Amino acid sequence: MELSQIKGIGPKTEKTLNKLGIYNGEDLINYYPFRYEILERSNINKIEQDQKVIIDGIIETKPAVFYINRKMDKMSFKLNTGEKLINITIFNRGFLKNKLTPGTDITVIGKYDKKYNTITASDIHFGMLGNKTSIEPIYHTTYGLTSKQIREWIQSTIGTVKIEDLIPEKLSNQYHFISKEEAIKEIHNPKDQTSLKQAQIRLKYEELFLFMTKMQALKKNKKNKIGLKRNVEYQKIEEMIESLPFTLTEDQDKSVKTIYQDLISENRMNRLLQGDVGSGKTIVSFLAIYINYLSGYQSALMAPTEILANQHYKNMTNLFSNTNMKIKLLTGKLKAKEKKEIQEQLKNGTIDVIIGTHALISDDVTYQNLGLVITDEQHRFGVNQRANLKNKGLTPDILYMSATPIPRTYAISIYGDMDISSIRTMPSGRKPVITELKKNTEIRDVLEKMYIELKKNHQIYVIAPLIEESEKIELENVKELENKMNRAFGKLYKIGVLHGKMSAEEKETIMNQFKKNEIQILISTTVIEVGVDVENATMMVIFDSYRFGLSSIHQLRGRVGRSSLQSYCILISDYEKERLKILTETTDGFKISEEDFKLRGSGDLFGVRQSGDMSFKIADLKNDFNIVIKAKEDSERFYNEWKDEIENKHIKDYIEKSIMITE
Ligand code: ADP
Ligand code: MG
Repeated sequence: MELSQIKGIGPKTEKTLNKLGIYNGEDLINYYPFRYEILERSNINKIEQDQKVIIDGIIETKPAVFYINRKMDKMSFKLNTGEKLINITIFNRGFLKNKLTPGTDITVIGKYDKKYNTITASDIHFGMLGNKTSIEPIYHTTYGLTSKQIREWIQSTIGTVKIEDLIPEKLSNQYHFISKEEAIKEIHNPKDQTSLKQAQIRLKYEELFLFMTKMQALKKNKKNKIGLKRNVEYQKIEEMIESLPFTLTEDQDKSVKTIYQDLISENRMNRLLQGDVGSGKTIVSFLAIYINYLSGYQSALMAPTEILANQHYKNMTNLFSNTNMKIKLLTGKLKAKEKKEIQEQLKNGTIDVIIGTHALISDDVTYQNLGLVITDEQHRFGVNQRANLKNKGLTPDILYMSATPIPRTYAISIYGDMDISSIRTMPSGRKPVITELKKNTEIRDVLEKMYIELKKNHQIYVIAPLIEESEKIELENVKELENKMNRAFGKLYKIGVLHGKMSAEEKETIMNQFKKNEIQILISTTVIEVGVDVENATMMVIFDSYRFGLSSIHQLRGRVGRSSLQSYCILISDYEKERLKILTETTDGFKISEEDFKLRGSGDLFGVRQSGDMSFKIADLKNDFNIVIKAKEDSERFYNEWKDEIENKHIKDYIEKSIMITE
């Protein structure tokens, strides 16, 4: 079903939905909420000052609307909760005035100021809650869309799109799963917490089962994979290593040797290089490229962002300037003519190494003899890029790099068919980042600490709070921080801003200014999360850090402490201090991710911030580890013992497709 057939979706909205990866009705109903708001009546007498409150009642007085300016209004009225009269104020809902007549039943969500007996509402729903608990799905949105709109479109689409069960009947029966159709209805419109949980488990299981089945297919197919023949002496690599401006750490050295073995062996390489942020994975990948180059093959290095691709390009060109290796950068920014020239040179073999984003394996790029594909920050790409290579008739060796520290047991089940190398130690001379927790009221203290660093001519990252629901609010936060920083430091230092709404070009300009120390304070949303390297940056200040997962903060924090200078990370948060404390105690990414995993154990299905680890729609490898294990065992049994008995056409198709990908 096409999106344009859905009521309320015009061409403009369709484009916006595309940004969320939604292209048709099927995508839409498979776009799951990322969390749920549980609406349960609060006991107003037990509410602390400024705590969140959900209360229902009857409107007592006619709302008064006051226009603050053209874009902002403030509405107030009194609500009778049956126990008392409470003043309600809400911003920018003036348009609801005529519907909020006295006598109307409503539910209000907001913060309660006891002293003034006032709730500052963030939302108003029509109707009372009474004793029932209502569960409201919240969807990730993008600029110009609200979670509510997405919800409405999904509701009107459910029932019109065919839903295919992809769990083999035997397993479905064994676990007494509800049907997929029911599960999808429930996930978007939960009756209660128990049935929501059933639906979640059903959908998670299917997703993981299919994933693991694909892994089985990959594994089975791996055995007869013949790799490329190479003939390179390690001596040559050794010489290159000696010429580097630093000595490799033991784990880096070991990884290079292992990759060398992989590459010269006749088996096709399929390796994951795991290592904490800043552990030095990049140089290992460069050396892999060098080995590949010496054996006469082309290499492609893919980064998740253009900024990062650019950085890799510059580093590699510098480090390998004493070789004849021809390195080029292919980004979306190039003019058509330049792009064409590069494509020509890839085809005729003039270029040895191409660096860019994942467009590198897109349809219009042809290689003369691609021997090695490296993907940086693997978890940001889909799991199935190999399909793309396959379509080109290519069978290069593959190296994935990931800084998401996944404990080994999990890694094995996720990357089922891969070999894994880990870099566990940091390059020597690094001082662990000193991390501190601060409250918002201690901002003066934070500013003073920032000033100390700035006076030393060091630079600072300031991270704006993560707002998953709305890019717009995120942007407003960035602007507000910019003002704040300007008030404090604007006279003495230059402040730059980086956010998701900027074009790649704008981002790069700012990033380059920061690199050159033309900007001293860089305010950013998490777009800088990946890989950017500025050694002189010695401090990171993260606002509302409770909004982030521990591992995400750890990743962010890896942007500082990249040289022998002592670096600092200041976490500002008024909430969840207990959880954040671990970050002040350790810098071991593996430990932190295990802690994250423990804290967000599978019992806690609500209010969980997804870490975006992998491109799963609903399953979360850490939280759902029990389901991961089950799905893995089941897929093995299924694949070995009874996949051939399967009647269901859709499952058959699915398996066939998975196998095709691996060939
Ligand atoms: P990541 O693993 O996060 O991708 P990078 O490869 O970007 O880390 O490395 C971080 C920084 O450490 C880079 O500036 C890199 O040049 C430097 N580096 C890498 N290996 C070493 C080493 N053995 N000794 C000193 N510095 C190193
Ligand atoms: Mg990196």
